[in-house]
Amino acid sequence: MFLFPAALSKRKLKVSLYSLAFATFGVVSLSSFSNSGLIHSEAHAAEKGVVNIYSYRQPFLINPLLEEFTKQTGIKTKVIFAKKGLIERVAAEGKLSPADILLTVDIGRLSAAIEKSISQPVNSDVINGNIPAKYRGAKGDWFGLTIRSRVVYASKERVAQDAITYEELADPKWRGKICMRSGQHVYNVAMIASMIAHNGAEKTRTWLKGLKANLARKPSGNDRAQIKAVYSGLCDIAIGNTYYMGKMVTNEKKPEQKKWASAVKLLFPNTKSRGAHVNVSGMVLAKHSPNKASAIKLMEFLSSEKAQQIYSKVNFEYPVKDGVAWSDLVKSWGEFKADDLALDKIAELRKAASLLVDETDLNNGPSS
Ligand code: FE
Repeated sequence: MFLFPAALSKRKLKVSLYSLAFATFGVVSLSSFSNSGLIHSEAHAAEKGVVNIYSYRQPFLINPLLEEFTKQTGIKTKVIFAKKGLIERVAAEGKLSPADILLTVDIGRLSAAIEKSISQPVNSDVINGNIPAKYRGAKGDWFGLTIRSRVVYASKERVAQDAITYEELADPKWRGKICMRSGQHVYNVAMIASMIAHNGAEKTRTWLKGLKANLARKPSGNDRAQIKAVYSGLCDIAIGNTYYMGKMVTNEKKPEQKKWASAVKLLFPNTKSRGAHVNVSGMVLAKHSPNKASAIKLMEFLSSEKAQQIYSKVNFEYPVKDGVAWSDLVKSWGEFKADDLALDKIAELRKAASLLVDETDLNNGPSS
């Protein structure tokens, strides 16, 4: 694994990336880098025996896993970390791409990799034994690695109830009391797709209209910003992913986030019925993977008990592999029942969900 020293400025980093890119494979255009949002990286041609990973997931999460993999197998790895543009980059690189594996979050981004034809199926008994069928593509073209649930963060002070349903978010009793990020964000699109799967498109349209009417403000900001809004009294409930609770209560760099988190309780919706909506972070094997055998070994490792423990613990997520212990902090949120809906189904309904968000004008917020 190779990383640029943290001390390198972003600007210097980009400059060195350009020169490296041209020196190693002139086929990559400058523009494909300038839009890529790279944070740490090494541009390189495929090196024999080294597994190349393109990762949307951050170094603090991925590096401990790769260190353990190399320790166990002797196989070396290299990573390109970026916030955006990796799927497009693999597609642009085509057959010459050094990418073996893509790591990302959300079924929406995993689906995008498949839609752009940058993945190939994997049929491994080890992986299929470790990852339940609902958390991997039926065709073996994507695999979930960790689970996160999209839950309700409720004000400890102003919300008495300890149970809730997604359906209830459209109840007029919450008028002016709900905060959420854009309805078009991948996290919300997947949640809305799950509503379509369970209740049908018509009921979901009506539900979205009710939810819109209950918003305290126009959808904006990220998940943490919604929790902050509950803390500051702007709304009583917010929609967010589970792991943000862990990230906020342990945030030493921004201790104000501990205060935001302490103002809310985490409610897993639909516990008494189908269970709470879940999404995954995951991986795909690149279509032109130059080191396929080693790449599959890494994929198998990432699904193993040891890796699942590291992966889920570092980011306060749930392991996909059954029987792997949750971290203590995650355990403290209590038992939760996960919706059994296959994520392939959610992938299929994402487009319909996104259209409904536009049709109902959710992102314009509550009408006066
Ligand atoms: Fe997130």
